[in-house]
Amino acid sequence: ALIITDECINCDVCEPACPNDAISMGVEIYVIEPSRCTECVGHFDEPQCQMLCPVECIPRDPAHVETEAELLAKAEHLKALK
Ligand code: SF4
Ligand code: SF4
Repeated sequence: ALIITDECINCDVCEPACPNDAISMGVEIYVIEPSRCTECVGHFDEPQCQMLCPVECIPRDPAHVETEAELLAKAEHLKALK
């Protein structure tokens, strides 16, 4: 999963771009729900939020490092829930 750092300026560009509805407004800044972030695997070649963020504040979350296979499995799981 990716994580939004405190450099976020709450521009709201990333939230509608997420194919998994993983991004929402938190207490002070936007946040990513790690159980819903597939790093866009299963949907796009590149993480959409990371591509669009004007201040580049969305790195990989060191607390949620996942393999490509794990991310794909998560994407399939989320699709099955829809
Ligand atoms: Fe959503 Fe993709 Fe960003 Fe993860 S990397 S929060 S799935 S847009
Ligand atoms: Fe924050 Fe970047 Fe998302 Fe804008 S695109 S709300 S600056 S994380």
